Amino acid sequence: MPNIALLLNWIVFSVLVLGNVSFLLTSAIEKRWRATGLSFVSVILLLGAACLILFQPFEIPHGIVLFLPIGIIILTIMFILPIRKNLSIKVPGAPCRLDEREAIFHRFYRLRPGMKEFNTFYKMHPKLQAIDDKIRNMPNLDEPGSRSYDPLTSMMNAATFDVIEKITRDVEWLTRKTQVKVTDEEITSKIKGFGQYLGADLIGITKLNPAHVYSHIGRSPGKWGDPIELNHPFAIAIGVEMDFDMVHFAPHHASTTETAYKYFEAAKVAMILSRYIQLLGYEARAHVDGNYRVMCVPVAADAGLGELGRLGLLITPEFGPRVRLSVVTTNLPLVCDKPIAFGVQDFCTFCKKCARNCPSAAIDNGDKKIYNGVEKWQSSQESCYKFWRLQGSDCSLCLQVCPYSHPSSLTHNLVRWVIKQNHLARRLALLADDFFYGKRPKSGKTFPSWHQPSQLNDIDKFSEMTRTENSSS
Ligand code: SF4
Ligand code: SF4
Repeated sequence: MPNIALLLNWIVFSVLVLGNVSFLLTSAIEKRWRATGLSFVSVILLLGAACLILFQPFEIPHGIVLFLPIGIIILTIMFILPIRKNLSIKVPGAPCRLDEREAIFHRFYRLRPGMKEFNTFYKMHPKLQAIDDKIRNMPNLDEPGSRSYDPLTSMMNAATFDVIEKITRDVEWLTRKTQVKVTDEEITSKIKGFGQYLGADLIGITKLNPAHVYSHIGRSPGKWGDPIELNHPFAIAIGVEMDFDMVHFAPHHASTTETAYKYFEAAKVAMILSRYIQLLGYEARAHVDGNYRVMCVPVAADAGLGELGRLGLLITPEFGPRVRLSVVTTNLPLVCDKPIAFGVQDFCTFCKKCARNCPSAAIDNGDKKIYNGVEKWQSSQESCYKFWRLQGSDCSLCLQVCPYSHPSSLTHNLVRWVIKQNHLARRLALLADDFFYGKRPKSGKTFPSWHQPSQLNDIDKFSEMTRTENSSS
């Protein structure tokens, strides 16, 4: 065998084996047992192929020995070249402000039968009454009768949401009269640094698009139905990572314990930053769970934290959709970040993993359409929330299965890098994701002892039962 062919084979097979061993270790650390098993098999197969080619126990044609590594190198180059430009979300229309009263959480957390507002709202939206009444007849979240209710553990997420509710009602504190003189570069760096110190994993700044401010007060504090006036020119978007293991308990309420806690963390950062800005003599308002005047997802997308995905949530380059958001709006002069596009619009077009796994078929499985001037996928908030009530908690299964949700590791970060720039790599990454984790990924996790429910303590059996019951209902 010519020396050059031998050398190329050594290099190519060493890289392939090391890459697979790295993925094997990553999968074992993440306790993804299907991926661990399959990557173990692929390491063995690669070692076998390498031995055959390099040590030739029987004669292998020279053409194979020479062209195999060359073919692999050419294929690798094809998968890392920047082949398709990343597209941003299209906004062909002129989006108008949405009414917070139409949001599902307003309808179920603020309106109560018998209230004047209740009657007014359903007179304005008669088509919503039938579905909302049906949902109202179901057990409430964290209440007996729902599927995942547990007298001890359900109260963990309920406790966190209660605390959020208690401490976030009043966010409109007085601004100090004397204004500290600031330069926009210096204060931007202080705001970002302080935010990260307080616990923000992601922080970005944008000009506030007025279309992202709700038009009327719904769930948030204030007089129901009043028009919202918010003229702050800037918005600071804050993202807090959700723990990978906890998210893997979805759709069980253990994942909601994490959701609630990260809402709390995001609210904490926003409220302290907002107070800091007020003490510098500038107006500021925190927008936190249950008390929003703005829509966090489009604001965070404008601020460069990520892109809107098929599942209707923000997908970030670092954590995928495993983040909870909050926002501070302000008149403090700041330096803005730019929106980013890293291939999500393309990937979501053919991936559809969230839609396939959604137990309530709430996620759009088709092509993007124009909603309020924006070309996007639109989920059904009613179907999603109805499933939550059946379940007794938030669900988060769409976050769990999204291929962008994998935690940070050498292998996942390498895949993140290639799919950022190459359409073929995205196609291959999805095939690999389906192969190693499954088209309907299993969690494979065991509940931590402090969150062990008294019944249904096998998360995969619970998940399967949920999906089967739902598809037959
Ligand atoms: S949270 Fe659950 S029910 Fe709602 S869209 Fe996601 S997967 Fe579907
Ligand atoms: S699961 Fe797939 S289609 Fe859904 S948001 Fe994630 S990448 Fe997009």
